Amino acid sequence: MAHRVLIPTPLRPYTGQKDAVEVDGGTVGEALASLTTNYKDLRKHLYADDGKLRHFVNIYVNDDDIRYLERDATKLKDGDVISIVPSVAGGAPGPALGEAQSAESKGTELNKAEFERYSRHLILPEVALEGQKKLKAGSVLCIGAGGLGSPAALYLAAAGVGRIGIVDFDAVDASNLQRQILHSTPDVGRPKLQSAKDRLEALNPEIKIETFEARLTSANALELFRGYDVILDGTDNFATRYLVNDACVLLGIPNAYGSIFRFEGQASVFATKDGPCYRCLYPEPPPPGLVPSCAEGGVLGVLPGVIGTIQATESIKLILGAGSTLVGRLLLYDAWGMRFRELKLRRDPACPVCGDHPTIKQLIDYEEFCGVKPAPAGSATVPETTVEELKARIDAKAPIFILDVREPHEYQVARIAGSTLIPLGQLDSRYGELPPASAGREIIVHCKSGVRSAKAVNLLKEHGIEAKNLKGGILAWIDKIDPSQPKY
Ligand code: ZN
Repeated sequence: MAHRVLIPTPLRPYTGQKDAVEVDGGTVGEALASLTTNYKDLRKHLYADDGKLRHFVNIYVNDDDIRYLERDATKLKDGDVISIVPSVAGGAPGPALGEAQSAESKGTELNKAEFERYSRHLILPEVALEGQKKLKAGSVLCIGAGGLGSPAALYLAAAGVGRIGIVDFDAVDASNLQRQILHSTPDVGRPKLQSAKDRLEALNPEIKIETFEARLTSANALELFRGYDVILDGTDNFATRYLVNDACVLLGIPNAYGSIFRFEGQASVFATKDGPCYRCLYPEPPPPGLVPSCAEGGVLGVLPGVIGTIQATESIKLILGAGSTLVGRLLLYDAWGMRFRELKLRRDPACPVCGDHPTIKQLIDYEEFCGVKPAPAGSATVPETTVEELKARIDAKAPIFILDVREPHEYQVARIAGSTLIPLGQLDSRYGELPPASAGREIIVHCKSGVRSAKAVNLLKEHGIEAKNLKGGILAWIDKIDPSQPKY
């Protein structure tokens, strides 16, 4: 029987960039075996060493999660579509918190200027005056003023949500402008919060903008979230995603969730009274480094515009208490193929935070949970070298082999002269192209910033090949050694 497996962008490096693959098999297990036989490098991304499907990868048949069918034994009909749905983190760089500006209590009557401003809402029977007053009395806290937070905050402000909080601690960088439309060219170097506040207040002076300049942590999340009607999650890392989720569940505040990666986005609404939460969907985060960030993997600039706008839409409906929200549904958007799909989500009665017998009753250490704590001194990390050491060794004509594990299009932008390109996704099958140990050449591996190359060093080690990771990657090389090359 023939079936189609839809391959999400993070896994396409292992399928030769194919977005869908035909497979055979009578069950999901057989179909995935057929897939990983044809694409061997996919295997370790889908299965853990014990042969079980990894927890941060969900498999759907048509729109149903196989965990609620018969898992691997789920039978397939001819033409069934199997979706691999890994967790993706993407959003704004970093969680952020700080000086709260106290919310003044607002009357919810509209003034004359507001009647004019919101006239297109007022003539919609589904919103009307009563709905507009609800929006005015409503509040949304945006975590991050980046790719997702930008369109979300702009539309929430335009729509008249009376109190909009923003948590961020970053400054505007030139590389943000391709998608973070809250910020403009003259804002480069300014704190994102200032730039966001100026822009939103110019758009709608009738509403209150609250800014919190800090990193969101377990110590401040509950205090920050309390009093908001909706939390809009626009973060870019797993530790903060789980923190936002758990804080929303504990406080009973809905989480308008969105995430983006390259050309694909996800959106849903978590942590409503009877709906699922992010942990019901992904009980465990991927190991650090397995899923690249947007800074490593890139993102189509307009993609967060779509997903962030969907998050704003959901927030508005939650405040209005009307319309059909994404509670119980995961919306998937593929900008490159221009397709929307949706998958059913269920609350997991065994979920550690929102299940029937929760074990997480207060916020935990999310960096530890996600395995991103800096390794203690003296523990095993990958061997490293610096760009200064590399330059000195090149100048001394030392016997070295520079391995670049980025993608070919990145190599076109900038490279270290004399390096050999083998993309990380191909390394497992091409490591034989490296010089043998007997050649006496030290292997130095680099990528853009050092994350993928650290994985490469570990992978080579599994094959008995010693190598060193270039700390900071080619970005550090350009910063410190060769500023003539462009950074990306
Ligand atoms: Zn849950």
